[in-house]
Amino acid sequence: MDTTLFRSIELIEPGDLVVYHGSITELHGLWLAVPCGCSICDRIDRFGIADVRFSLVDPWGEVPGPFHVRRASITRSVACA
Ligand SMILES: [Zn+2]
Repeated sequence: MDTTLFRSIELIEPGDLVVYHGSITELHGLWLAVPCGCSICDRIDRFGIADVRFSLVDPWGEVPGPFHVRRASITRSVACA
């Protein structure tokens, strides 16, 4: 496996393909990352706290993904480079 897959310091842009490796092991895999738009994150955003959370979207639109995902739980996939 290509080690560049795990460069976790890279910036994640909305719509990037990412690998989820967080606490919900059954959801590990490829997702599209978008900024979490829930009311909690919206409020945090207005307080100016720089703790960006993501919601993950199935690229094939078949299963609902996890939301409120920490940056540390996802890694940008090299597949979208
Ligand atoms: Zn959220």
